[in-house]
Amino acid sequence: MKFCPNCHLSYDDSANVCGQCGGPLQMIPEQFRQAPPQVLDPTDHTAEFSPQDISDNKVFAMLPYLLSFIGVIIALLAAQSSPYTMFHVRQGLKLLVTEVLLGLCAAILAITIIVPIAAAVCMMILAVIEIICFFNVCSGKAKEPPIVKNLPFLK
Ligand SMILES: [Zn+2]
Repeated sequence: MKFCPNCHLSYDDSANVCGQCGGPLQMIPEQFRQAPPQVLDPTDHTAEFSPQDISDNKVFAMLPYLLSFIGVIIALLAAQSSPYTMFHVRQGLKLLVTEVLLGLCAAILAITIIVPIAAAVCMMILAVIEIICFFNVCSGKAKEPPIVKNLPFLK
């Protein structure tokens, strides 16, 4: 099976150029054959990692979400060579840094009452995001966490 990178049309192996634009065709890699065309989600990086890496290192990729800093450290020690795990370590760190910053704001501005309450609400939202991330890892995905993905650090 071949496809045209311009028009995203698929052709038989016997075809050499695209019938639509006349451009050269590329082979479709084995793992993408038969796969239904997926809606491109810019926060979904699953395709960037090998299925082997994902299935081997799923357990380590979950740790940053489950065990916070301890999980990050274990994942760094145990699966540093796994791009999939490192992706989740980065996302986990993003969540953790955000939590620490929220905690600091709440502590410094404790006297305002409203800031600690707002921080507590944000913490709960972050906890929900961590659960979502955890289930993403369970299903072998590499998605950036919602909200947190917009933070300008640890890209
Ligand atoms: Zn074409």
